[in-house]
Amino acid sequence: MDLVFGKDVKLQEDRVRKRIEGIVGRENFFTDPEHRVSYSYDALNREVLPAAVAFPRSALEVSEILRVASEEGFPVIPRGAGSGRVGGSIPVPEGLVLSLERLTSIHQVDGDNLLAEVDPGVVTGALHQRVQAEGLFYPPDPASYNFCTIGGNVSTNAGGLRTVKYGVTRDYILALEAVLPDGRILHAGRKTRKSVVGYDLVRLLVGSEGTLAVVTRITVKLIPLPAGRKTLLAYFPDVSRAGNAVRTVLRKGFLPATMELLDGGSLRVLKEAGKITIPEKAGALILVENDGDPEALAREMLKLREILGAAGAFEVLVAEDQKAADDLWLARRALSPTLARRYPHRLSEDVAVPLDRIADLLRVTDEICRGRGVGNANFGHAGDGNIHLNLLFDAENPGEVEAAETAVGEILKAVVGMGGTISGEHGIGLAKRPYLSLEVTEPALSLMKRIKQAFDPKGILNPGKILP
Ligand SMILES: Cc1cc2nc3c(=O)[nH]c(=O)nc-3n(C[C@H](O)[C@H](O)[C@H](O)COP(=O)(O)OP(=O)(O)OC[C@H]3O[C@@H](n4cnc5c(N)ncnc54)[C@H](O)[C@@H]3O)c2cc1C
Repeated sequence: MDLVFGKDVKLQEDRVRKRIEGIVGRENFFTDPEHRVSYSYDALNREVLPAAVAFPRSALEVSEILRVASEEGFPVIPRGAGSGRVGGSIPVPEGLVLSLERLTSIHQVDGDNLLAEVDPGVVTGALHQRVQAEGLFYPPDPASYNFCTIGGNVSTNAGGLRTVKYGVTRDYILALEAVLPDGRILHAGRKTRKSVVGYDLVRLLVGSEGTLAVVTRITVKLIPLPAGRKTLLAYFPDVSRAGNAVRTVLRKGFLPATMELLDGGSLRVLKEAGKITIPEKAGALILVENDGDPEALAREMLKLREILGAAGAFEVLVAEDQKAADDLWLARRALSPTLARRYPHRLSEDVAVPLDRIADLLRVTDEICRGRGVGNANFGHAGDGNIHLNLLFDAENPGEVEAAETAVGEILKAVVGMGGTISGEHGIGLAKRPYLSLEVTEPALSLMKRIKQAFDPKGILNPGKILP
């Protein structure tokens, strides 16, 4: 990485730097190599050094920084915890990383009106704990909830394991405060459960990946905390029966909070790592969890055991207590870190397909990967059709890298052909930008470009993301 500033970098000019220092203070503005390197990457395997990093502590400071950026003409890259998987917060060399991590207040938890008002830098898990202490529930639970931020979740419309029953982040956002690229502060939405006044700017900003405005305050909807939780795990001989079983459960009238699937490739990776005991003949597993009234849950689990058995499961385990439930979750929890260690350069896709195409998706993925000579291990939120496809290859071998990249293009095309989407929850960012037009065609694409132009005519906010 080149630590030297390129030519024409505005943030290199003393005058511009002094303007930013005047807003956030010298102690919150950095151009040293350590900060620039630390904020040069997210959870995608790419890095670009920014020119500088700033840590505003209020919406007013965010607003003043954006006003300076707009006047001086330098790019600004909003950033939460940098856990995004598509490079959404990877900077550009002449850009300022605007880290929201010091905006961490939970301003209000209002049990009477079932809502909370929070800063964007609040870690999602911290909000879970805080509202839970008051008998309330904020359902969106990306697997990264221990470190990602609510601002990042809003900006990527994060999903999670409980999406099957509870939906995604967008379903819980009542109102937003956001700073426009020219520094004006926008208020969208109300604290009411219903509001139909003008165009829905909240829904437009949620999932806009920091390209339209910087979110500085979020009002989320809460629901009462369910009284109980039950977990079940079913082993299947093959993934096709497991995929079809997901659909059968829903068709029979059950709506679990979570329905996760691990395919044969995933089980193989776990077996090779040798940490978890998995039956030899298992070719896939489904993990089901539901919450609600404890007695009703116990009855539901008995019925689910029958249904899954009839759908081809050869072993169904129902957890009797929290310790047993944690044991059933072991394989699912161990999978991402095991994959990351064993295949640090894997290509990860987070496609979603209609529920009746899950088995087809896994079959087609396997066929394409075999044809291209790359491995695959697939898992994810099968209850909502969102499967994380992992293409496994030797990163030292240029032939395998090229084969994997070609396979990704073929898989994404097949997904769109099935009526699916190229991203169920991670967004487009940098990584998926070359594929956007597989799914978004004219006139929607032109309209999206005009929306970006209307919000950000100078193109200073998170340039190079989402749109081709
Ligand atoms: C192990 C692991 C598991 C994961 N599991 C899931 C999962 O189950 N579901 C899921 O959806 N995602 C998952 N992710 C991806 C990631 O955690 C989510 O996309 C998350 O929402 C990103 O939050 P963040 O705070 O890290 O944001 P960042 O990565 O910092 O930023 C993400 C995007 O949001 C923008 N942004 C951030 N904050 C703001 C703001 N205040 N205003 C405007 N724009 C902003 C950035 O510019 C960028 O485009 C996972 C990631 C990892 C590493």
